[in-house]
Amino acid sequence: MLKIENLHVRVAGKDILKGLSLEVRAGEVHAIMGPNGAGKSTLGNVLAGREGYEVTEGSVTFEGKDLLALEPEERAVTGVFLAFQYPVEIPGVNNTYFLRAALNAQRKARGESELDSMQFLKKVREKLAVLHLKDDLLQRAVNEGFSGGEKKRNEIFQLALLEPRLAILDETDSGLDIDALKNVAEGVNALRSAERAFLVVTHYQRLLDYIKPDVVHVLADGRIVETGGPELALQLEEHGYAWIRERIAPEA
Ligand code: ADP
Ligand code: MG
Ligand code: MG
Repeated sequence: MLKIENLHVRVAGKDILKGLSLEVRAGEVHAIMGPNGAGKSTLGNVLAGREGYEVTEGSVTFEGKDLLALEPEERAVTGVFLAFQYPVEIPGVNNTYFLRAALNAQRKARGESELDSMQFLKKVREKLAVLHLKDDLLQRAVNEGFSGGEKKRNEIFQLALLEPRLAILDETDSGLDIDALKNVAEGVNALRSAERAFLVVTHYQRLLDYIKPDVVHVLADGRIVETGGPELALQLEEHGYAWIRERIAPEA
């Protein structure tokens, strides 16, 4: 589904990703771990097509298409969802209204019919049920005054509505409490399917106690330096990132 080959990315004149390669198949959940500043969020941003991230070498193919040639909106239409690409806060804009507009924009771009408010409400109820969520966030303004945990819960709900093929979640090290982590994990688990892949960027092993990844990668110094199964996350938790550094650059 997603194939990244030898990706080099420069941000503000500095080389951040330096030859990153990664392959994700439909149905898989991949975790990307790594020390602070390794380039994890840069990877998410470049896949979403954010401005300011210059690809100097390498390629990214999504379902056979050159993802890097697409505009950010086109990437969303082809089914790539990046949790944090959505606006942080939109005061005064009702969340339900916003979600419907986002969904209908995507449907329109795909040549599908737009949903009227009754059809949309039906979909909302269906997704709330799948995720075991309350509707308490829907009548509020988009993200306004949301706690960190509520923002994450809302992102998972956006994900459920937009039904992407590839969902990229960046946990952003943002001090989520255990309930918020569980919410994210339960949402991801409920939305796992044979057609959908997840790229879960996380600093903490904790999240992976709840989301069982198929593959774990360690990103350090702009490259994937280690790939393994769920046990790799546990080894990291036990030994820290210094352990990886020693393995990739043993002392002479
Ligand atoms: P991680 O998510 O792994 O902690 P990031 O991808 O956020 O790492 O950052 C990797 C490096 O790129 C850091 O050194 C960071 O300071 C730098 N960086 C990221 N975004 C920018 C930016 N917009 N301007 C300047 N430097 C940036
Ligand atoms: Mg960071
Ligand atoms: Mg980050």
